[in-house]
Amino acid sequence: MKKSKVAIVAYEKPLRSVRKAVALSNGMDRLPAKAKVFIKPNIVFWTRATAFPKWGVITTSRVIEDMVIILKERGIDDITIGEGTVMRKPRDKETPAHAFETLGYRVLKDRYGVKAISIFDRPFEKIDLGKGVALNFNADILHSDFVVNIPVLKTHAMTTVSLGIKNLKGMIDIPSRKKCHNTHPEKDLHFMVARLADKMPPMFTLIDGIYSLEKGPSFDGRMRRSNLLVASSDVLSADMVGAGVLGYQPSEVQHLANTANNRDRPYDLSDVEVVGKSIESATSHHRYDFPYNKDDTLPLPMEKMGIQGLSFKKYDLSLCTYCSGLIGPALTSIAFAWRGEPWDDVEILNGKVMAPTPGKKKTVLFGKCMYQLNKDHPDIQEMIAIKGCPPTPMSIEEALNKAGIKVDPAFYKNIEQLPGYFLKRYEDKPEFDESFFRIK
Ligand code: SF4
Repeated sequence: MKKSKVAIVAYEKPLRSVRKAVALSNGMDRLPAKAKVFIKPNIVFWTRATAFPKWGVITTSRVIEDMVIILKERGIDDITIGEGTVMRKPRDKETPAHAFETLGYRVLKDRYGVKAISIFDRPFEKIDLGKGVALNFNADILHSDFVVNIPVLKTHAMTTVSLGIKNLKGMIDIPSRKKCHNTHPEKDLHFMVARLADKMPPMFTLIDGIYSLEKGPSFDGRMRRSNLLVASSDVLSADMVGAGVLGYQPSEVQHLANTANNRDRPYDLSDVEVVGKSIESATSHHRYDFPYNKDDTLPLPMEKMGIQGLSFKKYDLSLCTYCSGLIGPALTSIAFAWRGEPWDDVEILNGKVMAPTPGKKKTVLFGKCMYQLNKDHPDIQEMIAIKGCPPTPMSIEEALNKAGIKVDPAFYKNIEQLPGYFLKRYEDKPEFDESFFRIK
């Protein structure tokens, strides 16, 4: 049996460590001469309002520049970096431009002629992924000769890990992203994610684990300095090994098991050859989910605070990224609003499948999907609807106040500042070094 090679390399020095990962994995052997190369980083989320979300959340600029140098050494002149960052306002052009500028991509343009694009400014093409599923992918990545996929070493609250395959979700348009979070019993998020790499050009995957993330994918997770790189010309093998490094068997990650099944591959690492460091020596367990109480009606830390009179049901796979990005802030604002007096038997429902619990006095329907599904539900006594898709922060504030949860208006007015609040934890820790996210 021919084995796919995956290199695990300790990150030690600029350029040298990425070069070692490329060489050990033979990851660029299929790079055609004069290829048009597309680099896909992970800039999952960005804000212009505060210190940008970084450690283990987005790809380091260090690794991006190192890859660009290696490509240039191989005679590659046509290099595009492309991303589809999640933004509160889909037509916002300034936020991705600010991300590219801050991360030093303009220096890459001036120094090496690298283009940087937001995929929302570019055309999409509908791609049939089989089994009746079609998603709209960015045309630039589809028409490149070679892809360098550079995700971050992170876990993910819904998909357990978010590595090379999941990183490609950033290459589909917004309707396709919402479609991934559907209510079909079989064609769920894991089913969809498992197919994202199927129609890609030849690809080298380099998982950037200089920083890694527990409870990802975003800035409210736990960030770590891990100093690792995982590299392979086979994205599934890279992800299986990456999952191992994060403490999970490939079979425990549903979308990896689905991908293996689709490709007639074993669910374990029996057809993978690991070179460089061993998985065992690199593994450090990273939690992926946010713990809830035993009924899944409140996050555990909020139950421990003694919060009563509120049920905020745990997210499910149907909750798409755009609502999901607001659930965390909503919970934080509610925790801040707790004054020790039980609220008036309020239930907050989210995603696309939840149903009201009989007997609750007030039911908040979070997002258009919940409103459409439950607006006429007989078990709702008082309905408070947040109808947007996704809702605006102000509409969430209004709804919570209406439900008797007096959240601080300043919190929602300054919601863009929230990453700064989480990033404060890492101030004055020298291993969290901002220079990894700059290009001089
Ligand atoms: S309301 Fe929320 S869950 Fe529904 S499609 Fe819109 S963003 Fe997704």
